[in-house]
Amino acid sequence: MPAYSINGELVKESEAKVSVLDRGLLYGDGIFEGIKMYNGYIFKLKEHMTRLYESAKLIGMDMGVSEDKFTEEVLKTAAAAEESSAYVRITVSRMGNLGLHTLLDTITVTRMIIVIPLAYQSTEAYDKGLHLTNVSMARIPEISLPMRAKTLGYLNNILAVNEAKKNGADDALLLNTDGNVAESTGSNIFYIKGDVLVTPSPDAGILIGVTRNCIMEIAKNMGFNVLEKLFKQDELIQADEVFLTGTAMEIMPVYKINDTLISGGKPGEKTKSLMKSFKEHIANCPGAKAK
Ligand code: PMP
Repeated sequence: MPAYSINGELVKESEAKVSVLDRGLLYGDGIFEGIKMYNGYIFKLKEHMTRLYESAKLIGMDMGVSEDKFTEEVLKTAAAAEESSAYVRITVSRMGNLGLHTLLDTITVTRMIIVIPLAYQSTEAYDKGLHLTNVSMARIPEISLPMRAKTLGYLNNILAVNEAKKNGADDALLLNTDGNVAESTGSNIFYIKGDVLVTPSPDAGILIGVTRNCIMEIAKNMGFNVLEKLFKQDELIQADEVFLTGTAMEIMPVYKINDTLISGGKPGEKTKSLMKSFKEHIANCPGAKAK
Protein backbone atom coordinates (compact mmCIF):
# COMPACT_ATOMS: atom_id res chain seq x y z
CA MET A 1 0.00 0.00 0.00
CA PRO A 2 1.28 3.48 -0.81
CA ALA A 3 1.63 5.99 2.04
CA TYR A 4 0.68 9.64 2.15
CA SER A 5 1.34 12.50 4.53
CA ILE A 6 0.22 16.10 4.66
CA ASN A 7 2.08 18.56 6.87
CA GLY A 8 3.72 15.70 8.70
CA GLU A 9 0.51 13.73 9.43
CA LEU A 10 0.09 10.31 7.85
CA VAL A 11 -3.25 10.21 6.04
CA LYS A 12 -5.26 7.69 4.03
CA GLU A 13 -5.42 8.13 0.27
CA SER A 14 -9.06 9.28 0.58
CA GLU A 15 -7.90 12.07 2.92
CA ALA A 16 -4.83 13.03 0.93
CA LYS A 17 -6.50 16.02 -0.71
CA VAL A 18 -5.73 19.68 -1.34
CA SER A 19 -8.04 22.67 -1.46
CA VAL A 20 -9.33 24.11 -4.73
CA LEU A 21 -7.62 27.29 -3.53
CA ASP A 22 -4.21 25.60 -3.48
CA ARG A 23 -1.84 27.81 -5.46
CA GLY A 24 0.12 24.81 -6.70
CA LEU A 25 -3.09 23.82 -8.46
CA LEU A 26 -4.16 27.35 -9.43
CA TYR A 27 -0.82 28.66 -10.66
CA GLY A 28 1.83 25.94 -10.41
CA ASP A 29 3.06 27.95 -7.40
CA GLY A 30 5.11 25.32 -5.64
CA ILE A 31 8.12 23.04 -5.76
CA PHE A 32 8.74 19.30 -5.75
CA GLU A 33 11.24 16.46 -5.58
CA GLY A 34 11.18 12.93 -6.96
CA ILE A 35 13.30 10.49 -4.95
CA LYS A 36 13.78 6.74 -5.02
CA MET A 37 13.74 4.28 -2.16
CA TYR A 38 15.61 1.04 -2.91
CA ASN A 39 15.09 -1.82 -0.43
CA GLY A 40 14.12 0.50 2.42
CA TYR A 41 16.90 3.05 1.86
CA ILE A 42 16.20 6.48 0.39
CA PHE A 43 18.90 7.19 -2.17
CA LYS A 44 20.55 10.64 -1.98
CA LEU A 45 17.89 11.92 0.43
CA LYS A 46 20.16 14.66 1.76
CA GLU A 47 20.94 15.91 -1.78
CA HIS A 48 17.25 16.00 -2.70
CA MET A 49 16.31 17.84 0.51
CA THR A 50 19.10 20.35 -0.10
CA ARG A 51 17.77 20.98 -3.62
CA LEU A 52 14.21 21.29 -2.27
CA TYR A 53 15.25 23.97 0.20
CA GLU A 54 17.29 25.74 -2.51
CA SER A 55 14.23 25.67 -4.78
CA ALA A 56 12.19 27.23 -1.94
CA LYS A 57 14.77 29.97 -1.50
CA LEU A 58 14.84 30.71 -5.24
CA ILE A 59 11.06 31.28 -5.33
CA GLY A 60 10.84 33.09 -1.98
CA MET A 61 8.95 30.29 -0.25
CA ASP A 62 8.94 29.97 3.52
CA MET A 63 8.93 26.21 4.14
CA GLY A 64 7.64 26.62 7.70
CA VAL A 65 9.74 23.73 9.03
CA SER A 66 13.45 23.01 9.18
CA GLU A 67 15.13 20.72 6.67
CA ASP A 68 15.80 18.20 9.47
CA LYS A 69 12.13 18.15 10.52
CA PHE A 70 10.94 17.72 6.93
CA THR A 71 13.50 14.96 6.37
CA GLU A 72 12.01 13.14 9.40
CA GLU A 73 8.55 13.47 7.83
CA VAL A 74 9.86 11.92 4.60
CA LEU A 75 11.42 9.00 6.49
CA LYS A 76 8.23 8.48 8.54
CA THR A 77 6.05 8.43 5.41
CA ALA A 78 8.42 6.07 3.60
CA ALA A 79 8.45 3.75 6.63
CA ALA A 80 4.63 3.64 6.55
CA ALA A 81 4.49 2.37 2.95
CA GLU A 82 4.19 -1.36 2.35
CA GLU A 83 6.68 -1.22 -0.51
CA SER A 84 10.36 -1.12 0.38
CA SER A 85 11.28 0.00 -3.14
CA ALA A 86 9.21 3.01 -4.07
CA TYR A 87 9.07 6.45 -5.58
CA VAL A 88 8.93 9.24 -3.00
CA ARG A 89 7.25 12.38 -4.33
CA ILE A 90 7.49 15.53 -2.24
CA THR A 91 5.31 18.47 -3.21
CA VAL A 92 5.21 21.81 -1.41
CA SER A 93 2.65 24.31 -2.59
CA ARG A 94 1.63 27.74 -1.43
CA MET A 95 -1.91 27.77 -0.11
CA GLY A 96 -5.26 29.37 -0.29
CA ASN A 97 -4.96 32.66 -2.09
CA LEU A 98 -6.62 33.44 -5.40
CA GLY A 99 -4.86 36.38 -7.02
CA LEU A 100 -1.34 37.21 -8.06
CA HIS A 101 -0.73 40.21 -5.87
CA THR A 102 -0.36 38.65 -2.43
CA LEU A 103 3.16 39.07 -1.08
CA LEU A 104 4.70 35.61 -1.30
CA ASP A 105 6.43 35.60 2.07
CA THR A 106 3.07 36.01 3.78
CA ILE A 107 1.68 32.75 2.35
CA THR A 108 1.97 29.48 4.25
CA VAL A 109 2.60 26.17 2.52
CA THR A 110 1.25 22.63 2.39
CA ARG A 111 3.83 19.83 2.56
CA MET A 112 2.72 16.67 0.78
CA ILE A 113 4.58 13.39 0.56
CA ILE A 114 3.45 10.38 -1.42
CA VAL A 115 5.28 7.06 -1.46
CA ILE A 116 4.11 4.89 -4.34
CA PRO A 117 5.35 1.79 -6.17
CA LEU A 118 8.16 2.31 -8.66
CA ALA A 119 7.16 2.38 -12.30
CA TYR A 120 10.16 0.72 -13.93
CA GLN A 121 11.13 1.43 -17.52
CA SER A 122 11.00 -1.82 -19.45
CA THR A 123 14.33 -3.63 -19.71
CA GLU A 124 13.98 -3.42 -23.51
CA ALA A 125 14.17 0.38 -23.21
CA TYR A 126 17.61 0.06 -21.56
CA ASP A 127 18.76 -2.57 -24.07
CA LYS A 128 17.64 -0.47 -27.01
CA GLY A 129 18.02 3.10 -25.72
CA LEU A 130 15.85 6.10 -26.55
CA HIS A 131 15.25 8.14 -29.66
CA LEU A 132 15.31 11.90 -29.00
CA THR A 133 13.99 14.56 -31.32
CA ASN A 134 13.85 18.33 -31.51
CA VAL A 135 10.50 19.93 -30.75
CA SER A 136 8.98 23.34 -31.36
CA MET A 137 9.52 24.59 -27.80
CA ALA A 138 12.74 25.53 -26.02
CA ARG A 139 13.62 25.07 -22.37
CA ILE A 140 12.17 28.05 -20.47
CA PRO A 141 15.00 30.59 -20.12
CA GLU A 142 16.56 31.40 -16.77
CA ILE A 143 15.59 35.06 -17.21
CA SER A 144 11.91 34.04 -17.07
CA LEU A 145 12.05 31.60 -14.16
CA PRO A 146 14.85 30.27 -11.93
CA MET A 147 15.37 27.00 -13.78
CA ARG A 148 17.61 25.56 -11.06
CA ALA A 149 14.49 25.49 -8.90
CA LYS A 150 12.37 22.38 -9.35
CA THR A 151 9.04 24.18 -9.65
CA LEU A 152 5.65 22.65 -10.30
CA GLY A 153 4.90 24.17 -13.70
CA TYR A 154 5.96 21.30 -15.99
CA LEU A 155 3.60 22.07 -18.86
CA ASN A 156 6.55 23.07 -21.06
CA ASN A 157 8.13 19.65 -20.46
CA ILE A 158 4.81 17.80 -20.84
CA LEU A 159 4.04 19.47 -24.17
CA ALA A 160 7.59 18.81 -25.37
CA VAL A 161 7.54 15.06 -24.65
CA ASN A 162 4.04 14.79 -26.10
CA GLU A 163 5.16 16.46 -29.34
CA ALA A 164 8.23 14.18 -29.49
CA LYS A 165 6.06 11.08 -29.08
CA LYS A 166 3.58 12.28 -31.72
CA ASN A 167 6.56 12.60 -34.06
CA GLY A 168 7.57 8.99 -33.43
CA ALA A 169 10.43 9.58 -30.94
CA ASP A 170 10.64 8.65 -27.26
CA ASP A 171 11.46 12.04 -25.78
CA ALA A 172 12.47 15.60 -26.67
CA LEU A 173 15.92 17.08 -26.85
CA LEU A 174 15.41 20.51 -25.32
CA LEU A 175 17.65 23.34 -26.47
CA ASN A 176 17.76 26.63 -24.62
CA THR A 177 16.77 29.91 -26.26
CA ASP A 178 20.43 30.43 -27.37
CA GLY A 179 20.32 27.12 -29.23
CA ASN A 180 22.58 25.31 -26.77
CA VAL A 181 21.77 21.78 -25.68
CA ALA A 182 20.01 21.91 -22.30
CA GLU A 183 18.48 18.56 -21.31
CA SER A 184 15.54 16.26 -22.01
CA THR A 185 12.09 16.76 -20.47
CA GLY A 186 12.74 15.02 -17.16
CA SER A 187 16.41 14.10 -17.35
CA ASN A 188 19.90 15.53 -17.91
CA ILE A 189 21.99 14.72 -20.95
CA PHE A 190 25.61 13.58 -21.35
CA TYR A 191 27.82 12.68 -24.29
CA ILE A 192 31.05 10.69 -24.49
CA LYS A 193 33.83 11.43 -26.99
CA GLY A 194 36.94 9.32 -26.43
CA ASP A 195 37.66 9.47 -22.71
CA VAL A 196 35.83 12.78 -22.23
CA LEU A 197 32.40 12.90 -20.65
CA VAL A 198 30.56 16.14 -21.41
CA THR A 199 27.34 17.56 -19.98
CA PRO A 200 25.73 21.01 -20.32
CA SER A 201 26.94 23.44 -17.67
CA PRO A 202 24.37 25.00 -15.29
CA ASP A 203 24.54 28.15 -17.51
CA ALA A 204 22.54 26.21 -20.11
CA GLY A 205 19.51 26.69 -17.82
CA ILE A 206 19.26 23.08 -16.75
CA LEU A 207 17.89 21.51 -13.62
CA ILE A 208 21.01 20.39 -11.77
CA GLY A 209 20.14 16.73 -11.40
CA VAL A 210 21.10 14.76 -8.32
CA THR A 211 21.81 11.81 -10.62
CA ARG A 212 23.87 14.07 -12.92
CA ASN A 213 26.13 15.11 -10.04
CA CYS A 214 26.51 11.53 -8.89
CA ILE A 215 27.38 10.26 -12.40
CA MET A 216 30.00 13.00 -12.78
CA GLU A 217 31.69 11.79 -9.59
CA ILE A 218 31.52 8.12 -10.59
CA ALA A 219 32.87 8.92 -14.07
CA LYS A 220 35.82 10.87 -12.62
CA ASN A 221 36.69 7.88 -10.44
CA MET A 222 36.50 5.64 -13.52
CA GLY A 223 39.10 7.81 -15.28
CA PHE A 224 36.86 9.92 -17.51
CA ASN A 225 37.81 13.51 -18.08
CA VAL A 226 34.51 15.16 -17.02
CA LEU A 227 33.60 18.50 -18.57
CA GLU A 228 30.65 20.87 -18.06
CA LYS A 229 30.25 23.32 -20.93
CA LEU A 230 27.87 24.99 -23.36
CA PHE A 231 27.58 23.20 -26.69
CA LYS A 232 25.31 22.96 -29.72
CA GLN A 233 23.44 20.00 -31.09
CA ASP A 234 25.98 19.54 -33.97
CA GLU A 235 28.56 18.58 -31.38
CA LEU A 236 26.16 16.23 -29.60
CA ILE A 237 25.31 14.20 -32.70
CA GLN A 238 29.00 13.66 -33.45
CA ALA A 239 29.50 12.01 -30.06
CA ASP A 240 30.58 8.39 -29.62
CA GLU A 241 27.80 7.80 -27.08
CA VAL A 242 24.91 9.77 -25.57
CA PHE A 243 22.83 9.04 -22.48
CA LEU A 244 20.27 10.61 -20.16
CA THR A 245 20.24 10.60 -16.35
CA GLY A 246 17.50 11.07 -13.79
CA THR A 247 16.19 9.66 -10.53
CA ALA A 248 13.46 7.66 -12.21
CA MET A 249 15.40 6.32 -15.21
CA GLU A 250 18.90 6.30 -13.64
CA ILE A 251 21.07 6.07 -16.82
CA MET A 252 19.31 5.60 -20.15
CA PRO A 253 21.25 5.22 -23.42
CA VAL A 254 20.25 7.34 -26.42
CA TYR A 255 20.56 5.51 -29.77
CA LYS A 256 19.20 8.14 -32.12
CA ILE A 257 18.83 11.93 -32.29
CA ASN A 258 16.40 13.04 -34.99
CA ASP A 259 17.59 10.85 -37.93
CA THR A 260 21.18 10.41 -36.76
CA LEU A 261 22.17 7.10 -35.19
CA ILE A 262 24.45 7.37 -32.16
CA SER A 263 27.07 4.68 -31.45
CA GLY A 264 25.79 2.66 -34.41
CA GLY A 265 22.21 2.76 -33.16
CA LYS A 266 22.76 0.82 -29.95
CA PRO A 267 23.83 1.57 -26.36
CA GLY A 268 27.57 2.23 -26.21
CA GLU A 269 30.04 0.18 -24.16
CA LYS A 270 31.16 3.11 -21.99
CA THR A 271 27.54 3.98 -21.20
CA LYS A 272 26.98 0.36 -20.19
CA SER A 273 29.98 0.43 -17.86
CA LEU A 274 28.68 3.66 -16.27
CA MET A 275 25.28 1.97 -15.82
CA LYS A 276 27.00 -0.91 -14.04
CA SER A 277 29.03 1.42 -11.81
CA PHE A 278 25.92 3.39 -10.92
CA LYS A 279 24.11 0.21 -9.81
CA GLU A 280 27.16 -0.67 -7.69
CA HIS A 281 27.13 2.82 -6.19
CA ILE A 282 23.46 2.38 -5.20
CA ALA A 283 24.33 -0.93 -3.53
CA ASN A 284 27.38 0.50 -1.72
CA CYS A 285 25.91 3.89 -0.72
CA PRO A 286 22.19 3.14 -0.35
CA GLY A 287 21.31 6.36 1.50
CA ALA A 288 19.04 7.04 4.47
CA LYS A 289 17.41 4.04 6.14
CA ALA A 290 13.61 4.36 6.24
CA LYS A 291 12.67 0.80 7.22
N1 PMP B 1 15.86 17.73 -15.58
C1 PMP B 1 14.55 17.83 -15.33
C2 PMP B 1 13.75 18.86 -16.05
C3 PMP B 1 13.94 16.96 -14.42
O1 PMP B 1 12.65 17.06 -14.15
C4 PMP B 1 14.73 15.98 -13.78
C5 PMP B 1 14.09 15.01 -12.83
N2 PMP B 1 14.00 15.54 -11.56
C6 PMP B 1 16.10 15.92 -14.08
C7 PMP B 1 16.63 16.81 -14.99
C8 PMP B 1 17.00 14.92 -13.41
O2 PMP B 1 17.17 15.25 -12.06
P1 PMP B 1 17.44 14.14 -10.93
O3 PMP B 1 18.64 13.40 -11.37
O4 PMP B 1 17.66 14.94 -9.71
O5 PMP B 1 16.24 13.27 -10.87
